[in-house]
Amino acid sequence: MICGFCGHEFDEQQGKKGCGGCPGGCHSVHCPRCNYKNPLEPDLIRSLRKIFSKNDVHKGDE
Ligand SMILES: [Zn+2]
Ligand SMILES: [Zn+2]
Repeated sequence: MICGFCGHEFDEQQGKKGCGGCPGGCHSVHCPRCNYKNPLEPDLIRSLRKIFSKNDVHKGDE
């Protein structure tokens, strides 16, 4: 995933989950670089985005 704050790209597994510092429990992935709280992306949204990006393919790529 890409950090929404600093743009650093990191694996979701590398991010800090359950930091213990977020009120109501941590349900986000913290950026390893800036510690920004990135909201978790549900699989549904991810697959939707894939579909949309497919429609966005430039001509001649396939
Ligand atoms: Zn960041
Ligand atoms: Zn947290």
